Amino acid sequence: MLLSEKIYTTSYGDENSKSLSELCLELLSEQKKTWQDLREGYEMLKKVRERDLDCSGFSVRLQYNPGRIKSSTADMGKNTSMERQCFLCLDRLLEGQKGILYRGEYLILCNPMPVFPSHFTVSHLDHRRQAIGEHIGTLLELMADFGSGWTVLYNGPKCGASAPDHLHFQAAPSGQMPIEKEIWEQKRFTLSKKVDGVFLYRTRDLGREVIVLEGDASMAVGGAFKGFLNALKKVLLIDGEPMMSIAGFCKEKLWRLVIFPRGKHRPDAFFRTGDARVVVSPGVIDMGGVLITPVEKDFDRLDATAVEGIYKEVSLEGKIVERAIDALRQGA
Ligand SMILES: [Zn+2]
Repeated sequence: MLLSEKIYTTSYGDENSKSLSELCLELLSEQKKTWQDLREGYEMLKKVRERDLDCSGFSVRLQYNPGRIKSSTADMGKNTSMERQCFLCLDRLLEGQKGILYRGEYLILCNPMPVFPSHFTVSHLDHRRQAIGEHIGTLLELMADFGSGWTVLYNGPKCGASAPDHLHFQAAPSGQMPIEKEIWEQKRFTLSKKVDGVFLYRTRDLGREVIVLEGDASMAVGGAFKGFLNALKKVLLIDGEPMMSIAGFCKEKLWRLVIFPRGKHRPDAFFRTGDARVVVSPGVIDMGGVLITPVEKDFDRLDATAVEGIYKEVSLEGKIVERAIDALRQGA
């Protein structure tokens, strides 16, 4: 009963119906008519200020977006996660909030605090933990169903997910993060491994670790991803999910996962007090080169050197990534 009230539509992808991305854009324009916070969120997005920074070898766009203050400063502590109201659970969705039922398991919802001109959250119907290992297949399916011109994003539960206890992805039109152009430049790539027709590239001169998995069969890309995930676990000596942010692109039957292995969620400057505090809370969009600063003072004062420092601090060390790739070579 509750679910049926929340479903905008279930039909997509059939020959006679609209594509998933068309339906999402339609949902967004419908929801804007009735959902004031969503409308205001998008109005606020029109007023954001942006500034490009030339870092050494790559570029970053700072976005002053005061609407993101809540998510940037959200307490990620374990003790509060149970108490935190889960805004993705069906019974907590706002009245009138609707979504597109995706593969019978997920609802695609409009994000009321957008970073991009259309920005969606793909949320599992059940409250279950954010975990990529067992759900990489869904990420790949979403990439194919949204199709070229879109990107599907994943934030690890400990490095940027706004609801770490509730499985979700994000989707948005592609071409908005500087990394998307930069990783197509051939000079960036060093081919590290090829397995089952999937290429694993390591990139250079991007100021943070970026691994690209590329292949023309989604199953094989998913398999290679799991291999990399396990190799990272082995090298880090952990059982849980290694921290990572992921952006996925599917273009002309080519699946491409851009993986940012992470060492930390937030830089130390985030935890300083007074004037020394810098409110940045890097998730996948930030790692992709759109660094969100909800505080104006930070937007004005961050320069290329500071941003390079932030990336270096929250990225996993190159040495560890190298060891993971070696472990993968040895068939970890
Ligand atoms: Zn939930």
